[in-house]
Amino acid sequence: MRILIIEDELGIVRFLERGLTAHGHQVVSADNGDDGVLLAVDETVDFVLLDISLPGLDGHEVLRRIRAVRPGLPVLMLTARDDLRNKVSALDAGADDYLTKPFAFEELLARIRALTRRADQPRAAQLEAGDLWVDLLSRRARRGSRPVELSSREFALLEYFMRHPGQVLSRQQILSAVWEYAFDGGSNVVDVYIRYLRRKIDRGGEPSLITTIRGAGYRFDPPTST
Ligand code: CA
Repeated sequence: MRILIIEDELGIVRFLERGLTAHGHQVVSADNGDDGVLLAVDETVDFVLLDISLPGLDGHEVLRRIRAVRPGLPVLMLTARDDLRNKVSALDAGADDYLTKPFAFEELLARIRALTRRADQPRAAQLEAGDLWVDLLSRRARRGSRPVELSSREFALLEYFMRHPGQVLSRQQILSAVWEYAFDGGSNVVDVYIRYLRRKIDRGGEPSLITTIRGAGYRFDPPTST
């Protein structure tokens, strides 16, 4: 695959180039937004890694310009460590996913694989699991016909579960996916938020959609009834 990196930090570009080339990808790079847009609209590019903070055109504007010409091109946005606002606005601006720096290379490869698997389909702005439905752009959720009011953290947590149905997810995995920085207080914040989420998405008298797996973490099972 031909991957375009738009990033002005040379160290990160080199790191990405080395790793991606080692995994059989071709890499082109731009250290500013204008060049990035020009390269991205070239049909030979299959995937874009876009840093959100760039000199000149910033990442959001770059993304808007790419989307105007190639709406189906997968774009993974790289965001700063503690910038939740940027993450949300990256998705709102039409990024397919985001990754918080610093990240493990394996995580990057996994995201690239996941995004290119669904690249041929129209970009999913909505996720559905049984009668559970979320809209990623308007940040709304529904269980059956009942609207579910979620905080942004609860929403991110639910989105993460819905993207990994039937998989056991450890507290650490959940923490690093949904919380953008490490909490000193340990991982029980995950348990607390899962309790909130269960209260909102589960139906009384039915087993929870999120099962606690003792000693391992949690598993989300899509509802089967409608
Ligand atoms: Ca940068």
